[in-house]
Amino acid sequence: MSFTSTFLARANRKPALPDDVSQDDAAPAPGRAAEARRALLDRIAEFIERYDLPVTAINLATICGGLSGSQPELAQAFAAREIAGEPIDQRWLDTLARLDPDSQPRIAELETLMDKLEYAMVRFAQTARSAQSETSDHRGAIGVQIAAMAEPGDIAQVLDLSRAMLARIEQVEAAMARSEAETAALRENLAKARIEADVDHLTGLPNRRAFERRLTSAALEARTKGEPLSLAFCDLDHFKMINDRHGHEAGDRVLRALASSLIEYAGESFFVARHGGEEFVLLFYGLDKETARERLDMMRSAQAARQLMNRDSGQPFGKITFSAGVAEVTEDADTRSALARADAALYRAKQEGRNRVMMA
Ligand code: GH3
Ligand code: MG
Ligand code: MG
Repeated sequence: MSFTSTFLARANRKPALPDDVSQDDAAPAPGRAAEARRALLDRIAEFIERYDLPVTAINLATICGGLSGSQPELAQAFAAREIAGEPIDQRWLDTLARLDPDSQPRIAELETLMDKLEYAMVRFAQTARSAQSETSDHRGAIGVQIAAMAEPGDIAQVLDLSRAMLARIEQVEAAMARSEAETAALRENLAKARIEADVDHLTGLPNRRAFERRLTSAALEARTKGEPLSLAFCDLDHFKMINDRHGHEAGDRVLRALASSLIEYAGESFFVARHGGEEFVLLFYGLDKETARERLDMMRSAQAARQLMNRDSGQPFGKITFSAGVAEVTEDADTRSALARADAALYRAKQEGRNRVMMA
């Protein structure tokens, strides 16, 4: 069967009723009506594709009027054009649309609304690439909208549906903007929590957790670059006595003061963290254990030369010194063994009289 004869057969039918439904039936069952609308929709799509026509509101209204048979003069115009072998193109469709002067103001309104709708959908697609389900809802709505054009008074219905779609898109956009703001706030809180989890609250230094992570990444980087990496364990000498003589709060202030000194000495070159209690750990990027020991010993002697006062009592704390053990991380494939070696060196430093830095 040629397209023309199929077309004519279809165009002469009353609005796309399935073959087994009598034309006299006043209201076909809802399931059948939907089926008929789907069939009409297929034919409209086929027509648009066959003649490579742009999908615009006016084109849809015109083609639907012709194919559904709701506008017999259009159906006849289509058929005559086919038989004459003249092209069915946009220019010709435009002349057809002008045939019905009453529809012009409504079509103009529809075009404006369609433009808005299209813009809203583009905007929506940009902001909601992931909102698949919402998008498919809209696709469904477009289907319904086009299908609804099969009915008489189609433009008015398209207007209603288009308005409803626009409102729906705007609703979804508002909901998305809300959830975007909520997501941003959540992300910010998460970032804050992550930072907090890495910080020692007494001294403001990175804590043991942060140190362990840094150690792993620094060891990997040093091995990749073929550079040395050293670490040190530092432990305050006789710190228990400070607490006993001056109280725990004063002890806290001493810990904070030592943290500031270490940070000041370390600058950008070393990484300093509080490992716990009165123990601190340092990472010396690019330094072998001898050089690291020398640098740390300078820090140690500078600290030992300081006089700290207990500002509450006005009493001097006396000399606040520390002992340390240094080990080269890159000497061994196992990062943990460097910690154990530095700890053993620290133990020796304590045994040999404190206020000194020993090398593993
Ligand atoms: P050593 O020279 O052998 O290291 O002697 P020490 O007294 O420093 O060592 P010890 O391990 O016996 O005592 C450590 C003390 O550090 C005991 C503990 O109360 C104190 N300390 C640990 N954490 C804190 C803290 O956050 N604040 C205060 N004020 N004291 C702390
Ligand atoms: Mg200790
Ligand atoms: Mg100690």
